[in-house]
Amino acid sequence: MGFDDPNDEGNSSRYHTGKECVEAECHNPAGTAWSPYWCFECNVKRMKGIAKSLQEISDSFKADEQMEVEW
Ligand SMILES: [Zn+2]
Repeated sequence: MGFDDPNDEGNSSRYHTGKECVEAECHNPAGTAWSPYWCFECNVKRMKGIAKSLQEISDSFKADEQMEVEW
């Protein structure tokens, strides 16, 4: 279950908008429960990209904390 599960209700065709995905090279039908602009595959990439940058931000906070301890 979830945004990266093709069988999830949120990725079913009832969320398709009838338009194409906003990614220039992608012509899949757009529309998931998470966004009306991207197709399933591009939405997964996008959501994972967001999760990755949040992880990087929290990692950099941890690095700062460690430096404070060393000081
Ligand atoms: Zn797409």
